[in-house]
Amino acid sequence: MPELPEVENVRLTLLPLVQGQLVRKVTICRPDIVTGLATPLSLLQGKVIGDVIRHGKQLAIIADDPSQTTINVHLGMTGRLMGISCPFPKHCHVRWQLSNTDTLGFIDPRRFGGLWTFGALADLQDQRWSKLGPDALVITPDQLAQGLAKTKRSLKAALLDQNLLAGLGNIYVDELCFNAKIRPDRIACALTVDDCRLLVREMRKLLKTAIKRGGSTLRDYVMVNGQSGKFQNLHKVYGRAGNNCVRCKTPLHGQLLAGRTTVFCPHCQQ
Ligand SMILES: [Zn+2]
Repeated sequence: MPELPEVENVRLTLLPLVQGQLVRKVTICRPDIVTGLATPLSLLQGKVIGDVIRHGKQLAIIADDPSQTTINVHLGMTGRLMGISCPFPKHCHVRWQLSNTDTLGFIDPRRFGGLWTFGALADLQDQRWSKLGPDALVITPDQLAQGLAKTKRSLKAALLDQNLLAGLGNIYVDELCFNAKIRPDRIACALTVDDCRLLVREMRKLLKTAIKRGGSTLRDYVMVNGQSGKFQNLHKVYGRAGNNCVRCKTPLHGQLLAGRTTVFCPHCQQ
């Protein structure tokens, strides 16, 4: 599932393609992929695209009109926003023909992702994004400490909880705990303010590096231009259970935590 660095790369590659473009025509092949009004107008037909923003793992495509008509995009497991060339690619549920002759498609074979339409950006923020925790790139150590203090779950489970912190998934939580040298099975509320400072610092460093490398492509994720990410080649623990730790050569330990495969170094991470 695409996490913050992958979704940010979708945003960065989408923005130059769509910003300032008039949406000439919207074709809805599967209305059930849309929550809210599923009309060409609600999906920005006839409107100029003003901006594309992100919170956690979600995107919003915003019209340059007075109320800022908004499409909220969740890529789910296999969702892609892509420039498309053939008229009806497989699993393309909605497509937008733009005034620059580009066509953008929302493609999602497994349909765990979706689109939500809002008459105004403020409605998206009230109804959906206000329920999410702070974005992982901007959360402060105090905000993280407050979130972790409320839960006796493992640190892994807490960092995966989008209502506490928006943007991380299985890959980046494991990588973050390794970089911060903290065991993912520690009880969240037992972490100190210093631990939270360290986690926030390492989180920003990790996410910025991953964004620069185009994110991690494991299965389905590609950028809007069809390119894959390269950060998967730099994973230190994710997917490496049983291999040696890159720091101390101890075999990495894999276990199920919060229902997810979790990999850490039993020597480096205390
Ligand atoms: Zn180690």
